[in-house]
Amino acid sequence: MTSREIREAFLGFFKDKGHQIVPSAPVVVKNDPTLMFTNAGMNQFKELFLGEKAASYLRATDSQRCLRVSGKHNDLEEVGIDTYHHTLFEMLGNWSFGDYFKKEAIAWAWELLTEVYKLDVDRLYVTIFEGDERDGLAKDTEAYDLWKAFIAEDRILLGNKKDNFWEMGDTGPCGPCSEIHYDMRPNAERAEVAGSDLVNQDDPQVIEIWNLVFMQYNRLKSGVLESLPAKHVDTGMGFERLVRAIQGKVSNYDTDVFQPLIKFTSERSGIPYGQSEQTDIAMRVLADHVRAVSFTIADGQLPSNNKAGYVIRRILRRAVRYAYTFLGFKEPFLNELVPLLAQQFKGVFDVLIDQEAFVQKVVLEEEVSFLRTLTTGIQRFEAYAADGKQIDGDFAFELFDTYGFPIDLTELLAREKGMVVDMDGFQTALNKQKERSRAATTLDMSDWVILQDYVQTEFVGYDRLSAEAQITKYRKV
Ligand code: ATP
Ligand code: MG
Ligand code: MG
Ligand code: MG
Repeated sequence: MTSREIREAFLGFFKDKGHQIVPSAPVVVKNDPTLMFTNAGMNQFKELFLGEKAASYLRATDSQRCLRVSGKHNDLEEVGIDTYHHTLFEMLGNWSFGDYFKKEAIAWAWELLTEVYKLDVDRLYVTIFEGDERDGLAKDTEAYDLWKAFIAEDRILLGNKKDNFWEMGDTGPCGPCSEIHYDMRPNAERAEVAGSDLVNQDDPQVIEIWNLVFMQYNRLKSGVLESLPAKHVDTGMGFERLVRAIQGKVSNYDTDVFQPLIKFTSERSGIPYGQSEQTDIAMRVLADHVRAVSFTIADGQLPSNNKAGYVIRRILRRAVRYAYTFLGFKEPFLNELVPLLAQQFKGVFDVLIDQEAFVQKVVLEEEVSFLRTLTTGIQRFEAYAADGKQIDGDFAFELFDTYGFPIDLTELLAREKGMVVDMDGFQTALNKQKERSRAATTLDMSDWVILQDYVQTEFVGYDRLSAEAQITKYRKV
């Protein structure tokens, strides 16, 4: 099945089960002070779950574009390095608003995965909530018993509160969840170590594909849980992971979702995909980041120096850095991927093709301006390196902090000149900055709290003015 067919099969399956197909909400969230970007399918239904709005339908299904680069869900560090976390991804979902509950949600998930998608039953595992005595939460025996009808008991694993209990925030609707994991390792490896030992262990071949959340409680301000009069179902399945499982690939990037972008990048750089880990990571980063950047711009958020705009500028610059450092793109390139992406999402998320030229222009302008900053930094480096054998740690940090130079770029430039970088000194300077930023932000870990401006620790680079403004800000707090 192609990725297009897989998406259509999902929506068609739930449509046949009485669900209304709804469009994806934009990835950029306006009018919600608690969230910058859509990070889960349920975001657009928040008011329905909170009982603030009545639904015109009791069952819904969609593919929601999500971005996990800030706040509670920040996967940016993993992206490109691992093979299954993306910045922007599609979350396929089905919902019940006070209508069906665990029985149907579990039976349909199983039917879809094993009968429609024909996933291998011997590779599937499910998890259920084990309970939490301290919090007065019971084990989800109901889900356990329902799964038993479909899957061997040694494949039903117990999960803790972190993985298997979902809460919207400190108060509000919450409940246990049940996740579905898929073991994609070759048979020989599976014979050696049981898949059940690897679930939720960050093994790149044993990955979570679907999360079924059962909202059955309401947490009051006092912390007490009361049963919800109307129970809801909220599910989310990672589309790119599902496609990989169905297409039998070892990486999400080997599926038809990412291959066209990677092929194009490979052709233009003249570097084959698979040549080295470093160039592969760079190609994956580009294929991933162009999606986040393009859809964010198409959904109405331009790159800028604060909040959501700043997050997106950092992602764009991260891509440019990888392209520049590892793929030899000294001229703007990222923008050339935009038309390809727009074609790929035609009929799925038309927002991109409708604004293709505009989005490409914005990306190009950002690239030009950042490459100029990089070039200025390189000139600074050249002047500095004219006399000496070692690059001082403070100077490497200045390049990093002011010109957005990643340390590996500085090392690369140094190596070309037969010089070394004082990494200890760099680390010390970096730690000092991290301490400043830690002192300046308190990171609240729930979904709906106001996101701080500078909670991210991954640094992508910005221009001199904003760097100074930011450091001033840290000191002020
Ligand atoms: P993981 O444990 O792999 O980080 P998660 O538990 O954080 O996933 P959920 O919040 O349960 O993910 O989201 C529902 C589904 O969305 C997951 O089961 C997974 O398939 C998918 N998903 C989550 N994060 C990402 C991501 N960064 N990129 C691609 N798919 C993702
Ligand atoms: Mg996660
Ligand atoms: Mg998980
Ligand atoms: Mg999960």
